[in-house]
Amino acid sequence: MIDAELIVEKMKNKKINYDTVLKKMIQQWEKEGTKPKLLIHTCCATCSTHTLEFMCQHAEVTLFFSNSNIQPKSEYLRRLHEQKRFVDAFNEQMNNHVELIVDEYRPSVFNKMVLENKLADEREGGARCSACFNMRLDLVAQKAQELGYDYFGSALTISPKKNAALINQIGMDIQKIYGTHYLPSDFKKNKGYERSIQMCKEYDIYRQCYCGCVFAAKQQGCDLKQVNREAKAYLAESTVTFD
Ligand code: SF4
Ligand code: SF4
Repeated sequence: MIDAELIVEKMKNKKINYDTVLKKMIQQWEKEGTKPKLLIHTCCATCSTHTLEFMCQHAEVTLFFSNSNIQPKSEYLRRLHEQKRFVDAFNEQMNNHVELIVDEYRPSVFNKMVLENKLADEREGGARCSACFNMRLDLVAQKAQELGYDYFGSALTISPKKNAALINQIGMDIQKIYGTHYLPSDFKKNKGYERSIQMCKEYDIYRQCYCGCVFAAKQQGCDLKQVNREAKAYLAESTVTFD
């Protein structure tokens, strides 16, 4: 397995381009003729679109839906249903067999972490988000180790609203704790973000108006009662099934 830290070390004194790091790893896999097993975190279908399309060309990909930060529960379930609907449609269209693993939903753990660390009033992109990325990437790494995946990673680096350098730094730190390797990425590069928008249209994917937690939603003036009503109406009509 390739330790991304070794590639990053050679880039010292330069701004690290995590897309370049990923490309170097892919080149190495190709040279070795291997297709590693990846466990990639996703928090809704949107960011997983191009990420799947791209990574499935080079690896065996499983998505991990671990998002105790998303509230209310109806909205969490709506995003989960949309994620599953997209994976099923993608598999059918691309003749692929991407799996979706769903983690336990424990919003009280996330809320406790935010409140205990006094992060509720942090602006979006600040310390609360760092803690949120850390919590979820740690769970992905744990699951990757438990199930024997070669690498764990995050689809969130496709979003221009997320700090990809921070997500990658957290992933690189977490890999030191677990017996698995981090997959660096900056999926928005190479027109990845534009492709994700296009794929959302092609697959008719729901794109939500807030990131996920109630703290950011309130700061944005998002009407959570309406979110809840719309999510419940969606779920009442959903035909998505889980094995
Ligand atoms: S960062 Fe936003 S758009 Fe991307 S997967 Fe998470 S909730 Fe969806
Ligand atoms: S705004 Fe998004 S990333 Fe930040 S803490 Fe809330 S759910 Fe997590």
